[in-house]
Amino acid sequence: MSINQSIKPLTLEEKEHLFLGGCDLVDLARKYGTPLYVIDEASLREICKNYKSAFKNYKNIKMMYASKALCTSALCRILDEEGFGFDTVSAGEIYTVYKSNVDMSKVLFNGNNKSLKEIELAIDLGVGRFSVDNFYEANLLNKIAYEKNKTIDILLRITPGIECHTHDYIQTGQTDSKFGFDLTQIDEIIGLIKNEYKNLNLKGLHAHIGSQIFELKSYYDEIEILIKEIKRIKEIHNIELSEMNIGGGLGVKYTTNDNPPSIEELAKSITDSMQKYGIDVPTIYIEPGRSIISTSGVTLYTVGSSKQVPNGRKYVAIDGGMADNPRPSMYQAEYFAQVANKPKHENIEKVTIAGRFCESGDILINEIELPKLETGDILCVYNTGAYNYSMASNYNKVEKPAMVLVNNSLSDIIVNRETLDDLVSKDVIPDRLKK
Ligand SMILES: *Cc1c(COP(=O)(O)O)cnc(C)c1O
Repeated sequence: MSINQSIKPLTLEEKEHLFLGGCDLVDLARKYGTPLYVIDEASLREICKNYKSAFKNYKNIKMMYASKALCTSALCRILDEEGFGFDTVSAGEIYTVYKSNVDMSKVLFNGNNKSLKEIELAIDLGVGRFSVDNFYEANLLNKIAYEKNKTIDILLRITPGIECHTHDYIQTGQTDSKFGFDLTQIDEIIGLIKNEYKNLNLKGLHAHIGSQIFELKSYYDEIEILIKEIKRIKEIHNIELSEMNIGGGLGVKYTTNDNPPSIEELAKSITDSMQKYGIDVPTIYIEPGRSIISTSGVTLYTVGSSKQVPNGRKYVAIDGGMADNPRPSMYQAEYFAQVANKPKHENIEKVTIAGRFCESGDILINEIELPKLETGDILCVYNTGAYNYSMASNYNKVEKPAMVLVNNSLSDIIVNRETLDDLVSKDVIPDRLKK
């Protein structure tokens, strides 16, 4: 079994309290405050090794971590140590990776509307690959590269036209998508690259079909389309493409209803379909984000008020919610939780976990069976490593939580909790309004 098939991180222990990485989660809540993101280093390194061993028979494979899932400097260091490259989508992510002493040739810059400033920064910092998304960008990138007297290695982001079964907002490969070139536009863009964009060096194709994918068939379909295009491009344009980026998207297990394939199964589906087409094997890039970091992370909250609606639901409120984890209110995402100070107590009531933010939709978990919850209890919500902190906001002017890395009974802060002064640090009062 690989870790993306488990709800809980590898080192989670249920004793008188919940322990993670050998650390008592109740102690961590007391020491660092709540809400608190906690990352289990052992789980993270294990899943990285799992990816590497699953693909060990396929030598031309490059693992790129999709840093939009969670991008902090300490995390970049760990992934760099584990031999991963980085898929980035903004100057902020590129800069974070750069400041973490990563070899920038291992970085890919992706996105459907990269700005002039972002492109310039990426070129100046030596980002290894650009995934070119559209005609406008190809033209702009070529112009900037020409001015800087550089040749840029690029992939073309294409829309393979695949419907995969996941939430509409996280599906990206269907025909009518904002990302990438439609298959019918490929010949035109390649013509431009061949004849006009002399500062772009086309290395391969890139696609990404969506996120939280449970059906491996989507990958077979995607690879078939990419290989057919690579063959067709060779015939029509006499260009030999040596790289194929198949994106990320492998699902994780948020609740008992989720049954994602293992990383071994994903690897087998990819290598099998490559063999089936029998072309000279290009370098394959994969870009997992969620499946790398989701299961390694949990969030700790403190229970505050509660409300029993007469003849209705019981709401229990925690000290965080949609600002530190927007996924439930954004796409009805479901989570599983336990009470960190009562892991062995029997589940005796069905409650709805409400956030503290001023929106009725700020419900973190809709109906979950838990032991009797009391003010001061510490709730541990699982699978919050991906798309939680990276999507967090300061809604209601609330400080973003701290993040702690645990391993071998040690805990280290890797992101400081924001302070009230941080919250006003960008505000400016014009002189005429000063008191
Ligand atoms: C978001 C994204 C990924 C990562 O997706 P996960 O579902 O987190 O694995 C990879 N590649 C591209 C191009 C993306 O946009």
